[in-house]
Formats: sequence, structure tokens, C-alpha cells
Amino acid sequence: MSSEDLARTTEPRRPVDSRVPSRTGGPAGPVRASKDLARTTEPRRPVDSRVPSRTGGPAGPVRASEDLARTTEPRRPVDSRAPSRTGGPAGPVRASNDCDVVIAGGGPAGSAAAIWCARHGLRTVLLETQSFPRDRPGESLHPGVEPLFRQLGVERAEEAAGFPRYRGHWVSWGGPWRFEEFGSDSTGPWLGIQAWRATLDSILLEAARGAGVEVLQPCRALAPMREGKRIVGVSSEAGEIRARFTIDATGSRHWLSRKAGLPTRRASPRLIATYGYCAGDPDVFGEEPVLEGNGTGWVWIAPVRPALCAWTRLRFNHPDRHPPPSLRDMQPTGPTRGADVTWRIVDACAGDGYYVAGDAASVIDPASSHGVLKALMSGILAADLIARVHGGSLPESAAGEAFREWTAGWFRRDTKRLAELYAQIDRTDLRRSGPGGRVRLRP
Ligand SMILES: Cc1cc2nc3c(=O)[nH]c(=O)nc-3n(C[C@H](O)[C@H](O)[C@H](O)COP(=O)(O)OP(=O)(O)OC[C@H]3O[C@@H](n4cnc5c(N)ncnc54)[C@H](O)[C@@H]3O)c2cc1C
Repeated sequence: MSSEDLARTTEPRRPVDSRVPSRTGGPAGPVRASKDLARTTEPRRPVDSRVPSRTGGPAGPVRASEDLARTTEPRRPVDSRAPSRTGGPAGPVRASNDCDVVIAGGGPAGSAAAIWCARHGLRTVLLETQSFPRDRPGESLHPGVEPLFRQLGVERAEEAAGFPRYRGHWVSWGGPWRFEEFGSDSTGPWLGIQAWRATLDSILLEAARGAGVEVLQPCRALAPMREGKRIVGVSSEAGEIRARFTIDATGSRHWLSRKAGLPTRRASPRLIATYGYCAGDPDVFGEEPVLEGNGTGWVWIAPVRPALCAWTRLRFNHPDRHPPPSLRDMQPTGPTRGADVTWRIVDACAGDGYYVAGDAASVIDPASSHGVLKALMSGILAADLIARVHGGSLPESAAGEAFREWTAGWFRRDTKRLAELYAQIDRTDLRRSGPGGRVRLRP
């Protein structure tokens, strides 16, 4: 890898970072932010030249993705509840004890990393502790995920899933309601995706299987294996798996950080998001999500499936377990859940023999709106750097440094943007919320 390539990889001002528009659009509004995205993604490519632009990237990787898509079309329902290596019949899970890359976690970060590793000819094992399909919050996906889906070869399966699309969202951020679009280009408006995560995550994991990844599921990563300072694999419920590289993609519980004593740096007071789902008359809602922020925090409501709304709230002072008042005529479909969304980062997110991707590396509260986008990109980036190190074109230390810088840059810009946004509503008059504090669905 040339230094120019490395510069492209490490260049801090990339579209895959926090210049991707936030859910709130950023201080100057989402259209400008979206244009920024277009400017930066189209000609220059995110992360490196093999990660796609909005228009699909160069001929090589797109063709490869299409080939993969053909082989990973949903040939059978994805249900891996039986413990298995491949998603087939039940049986004792035993791991191959030697591979190039072992990945803990089969969410978007882990599956994206696995697909990318396999595509580069790396023998890859992925451990996922839960049976799929399994629930996960985080349905509202930024349009920037679409070219990534193409590159990962899941575009057709994702389209076949029929996830609703949306042009933007209604927002009242301490002021009047307005509609914020993602933006558009010559092909038309950019559309976000309301992806049911149980389905999306199954599609991604299935694509990893289709690409040749050995998936052990359900199978928990227990502890990292070490030789001196180097991490040399994972001790798991399926036994010990030695690997030249280990990727932690276990999400916000930070498996590797806890087990290997990597410090997690907090950049906000403790923040707990509450979330849940309500069913009811779909006519009450338009097609677009709504976001209302005021001095106490914010509420996000999104129609994610027919007659089903997801809601997420963040109160700055204390969590609120109640569904938003505007959903009072709808029926909760389950309990209110909570998630620690305190802004935090594992600064040492790459080191001797390991990478930490997705939420496992950094968490920012969901107002940033691109947790899944970041997870996919960081998984791909970790895998891409590993492939280069494995192929001998990049020193391991340079790859680790590139990954740490990329992760830190994204985190720095996202937290700066969110801090500015929250400063706008901190002194807001709550009465602006409208009659009875209801979240109005249309202005
Ligand atoms: C309330 C809420 C709302 C959100 N809304 C949005 C949104 O609208 N849009 C958006 O883009 N993002 C949103 N997010 C963020 C988004 O959910 C995350 O950023 C995204 O899921 C991160 O993906 P990941 O692959 O890093 O981790 P995860 O999706 O958490 O996947 C981690 C996987 O690792 C597995 N695992 C854990 N421990 C082990 C182990 N020891 N061994 C093996 N496997 C293990 C888990 O079972 C899981 O499947 C939201 C988050 C919250 C909390």
C-alpha cells in the first residue's frame, strides 16, 4: 500500500465520518449536510477506494458485490435458533481452531467485517451469542447505507425485505416544525430506510455465511487469548479459536475492552435512552419520522412497519420510561427498554492483533442517527486494513494507527455536532411543544 493510499485511509475529513448528516441535520440544516455528503462521497470515496460512493463505486467492486448478491439472495429463511455452524440443523458447536480472523458479534459491524474479510480470501470465523432473528433498536438508517449494502452484496435481499423508505423527517428543535429532507441528486431524492433490525441483521449474517464465513451461533466469546501482549484469538463456548486477528464487534457492552482492560473514555454525562414500540392506526402517522427536542431532551417517533411505530426518548436529567404522549392512543407492544448511550470511546480500538468495530469502539446517543452506518463502515475498514496487513502491503502498526484515527475523528466530529445541537435547546421554552405537550405529527 502506498503512503498515498494510507493517506486516503487516514484522511480525517471523510464522508464516512460525522459530516454525514445527523438525524437533526446539524446546526445549518440537513440539506446542506446532505450536500456535503454528496460532495464528499461521490468523487472521493469514503474510507478508501473500495468503499462505495453513493453512485456505486468503481466497476470492480460493484461487479463483485453483484456476484455475491446472486449467491446470497435469500434462498432460505434465516433462522439460526438451532446452534449450528452454518445455520443448518442443530448440533454441537465446535470451532475450527485456526483461522485468519475471528470476529465476536454478528451485528452490522461484525457481519460487514466478516463479508469483507471473506471476500479478501481470509479464513474467517464469526461468533454470535444470540440466535437470529433477534430484536435490536435502531431502524432508521441514513441513505448512506445503500451503497454499502451494494458493496456488501446484500442490496437485493434488502430490497426484497421491502423496508419502508423516507425522504426526511419532521423536526421541531426548540422551535417551529419544519421538514428536513436528506437531499437529492440527478437520480432523485435520497431516501432513508426503516430497516427492521431483526431482518436486516439476519440478511447481513446470511450474506457472511454465503461468502464463506464460518458462523458459530449461538456461541459466546468468553475471553481473548493472549501471547504476551498480543491477542491471538478467542476462547469461546465452542472452544479456543486461534487467529492472527481478532475483531470485537460485540456492540455497546464492549466485550474486549472489559476483558482486556482497554479503558473506555466517557465524553458526556450518563445518558440513558428509553425506547419501545406501539401499534395502532397507521393513518395517524405520515410516512416520515418526527423528532422533537426541547429543554428536557428529545423524542423520536418513526413508523417502522405497517401500523407499528418505534419511539426513542432521551431525557437529559433522568430517563423517562413512558411512551411519548402523542402515542397515547396506540398500544405498547412490549415493555419500555433502556440503553446506556453515554458518549464514549475506546481510544485503543486497534492494537496488537485486534480491532474494535462499531458500537464496541464508540457509542454516541441515537440523535447522531448513523450508528448502523458507522458500524458497517468501521467493520469494513477493520477488515480492509487486516487484508492489507495480511497481504503484506501495510505494516500492522500503520493499519492500527489508521483505524484509531478514523474512529477518533468520527467520534470527535459527532460529539461536537451533538453538543452544539443540544446547546440550542437547553434553554428552550417547553411550552413550544404544543398543546398538552403532544408531539405533533405534522406541522
Ligand atoms: C434506542 C436506540 C435507538 C437507536 N436508533 C438508531 C437509528 O435509528 N439508526 C441508527 O443507525 N442507529 C441507531 N441506534 C444505534 C444502533 O443500534 C447501533 O449503533 C448498531 O446496532 C451498532 O451495531 P454493532 O454491530 O456495532 O452492534 P450490535 O448491533 O449491538 O451487534 C452486536 C452483536 O454482538 C453480539 N454479542 C455481544 N456479546 C457477544 C459475545 N460475547 N460473543 C458473541 N457475540 C456477542 C450481540 O448479540 C449482537 O448481535 C440506536 C441505538 C439505540 C440504543
